Amino acid sequence: MKNIGGIGEFELIRLLTNGLAYDERTIVGVGDDCAVYEISKDRYILATCDMLIEDIHFSRKTASPFLIGCKALACSLSDIAAMGGRPLFVLASIGLPADISQEFVQDLYIGIRSICSDFQVSLIGGDTVRSPEKVVIDILMLGEPPNGKYVLRSGAKSGDIITVTGTLGDSAVGLQLLSGKLSEKDVERRSQLIEAHLAPEPRLREGLFLNEHFALHSMIDISDGLAGDLGHICEMSKVGARIRADKIPVSMTLNDVCRDAGLDPVQYALGGGEDYELLFTLSPDEFNRLQDCWPDEFDIPLTHIGEIDGSLEGIRIISPDGKEHPLDVHSFDHFGPTMLS
Ligand code: ADP
Ligand code: MG
Repeated sequence: MKNIGGIGEFELIRLLTNGLAYDERTIVGVGDDCAVYEISKDRYILATCDMLIEDIHFSRKTASPFLIGCKALACSLSDIAAMGGRPLFVLASIGLPADISQEFVQDLYIGIRSICSDFQVSLIGGDTVRSPEKVVIDILMLGEPPNGKYVLRSGAKSGDIITVTGTLGDSAVGLQLLSGKLSEKDVERRSQLIEAHLAPEPRLREGLFLNEHFALHSMIDISDGLAGDLGHICEMSKVGARIRADKIPVSMTLNDVCRDAGLDPVQYALGGGEDYELLFTLSPDEFNRLQDCWPDEFDIPLTHIGEIDGSLEGIRIISPDGKEHPLDVHSFDHFGPTMLS
């Protein structure tokens, strides 16, 4: 029998969940950032879970237990944000090797609890088990959409403006700096990029604001990289997209570091993961209205990077020389061919 290496994470999920029968209360099952379940008329629960495994998602050598705890929560909060929802509560399960120090676990929990308190989400339970070698953290989070309104990946329409919050690519380069694949002497630049990787800010307030005040057609959080996550919106909405490379927002620090190292920051923005920014689409009129009021509400940038085109298949990217190409950037895949070495 074949093993799962090389099959691709999303193909594997498809294989496992193909033909699932949902009850009539399951509004959205597998395939979005959260599942949507109707608990009573027009009242919905958003549900997401994220598992983090030592040496796949974090390293005890490069991240403090406090930050590991914070990031575990941030991943799930980001999925709630991607639906335009607010979090309700969390169950946190941990698997621990027997030789781990009490101090490590306590600091991990100080991290988990501090994010819960920052975002007003209650930690109401979990599970604690022994793990043979690696630390495992599994977060189950439930949330709710405001006034029963939530945003899916599947509603993008031809002519929509493709918009992204914040800047992209810092986290991917931060990971390379942490793992020693890239070096950077400037302490400030180095720590800014590493912080983007270790301490991402879930865009919860932004997601709620967008959903409550604007008619968004689709939204996703960027956990796999812009190319992959825009690909999910296109696939679920059965549309294509055209984006412009020179509009993709990257931080000044990323620009400077990449320039000095002879690297292209846009490649990190497209293919690198774990930025946890929001990617969404809306009509041009709604976008104009949003652009006018965004700076009064938030400090982070909001950028129009392209448009949805229903007549296109896949994503096309216009490079700075004006030429258009099909976008071919592979995002992180747990069971993809590049992850097997
Ligand atoms: P995200 O990056 O937003 O957390 P994922 O890429 O992890 O989402 O998952 C994509 C979709 O597949 C989600 O709807 C998730 O609930 C579903 N999914 C992932 N793994 C499984 C599984 N083992 N069984 C059922 N559904 C799964
Ligand atoms: Mg997500």
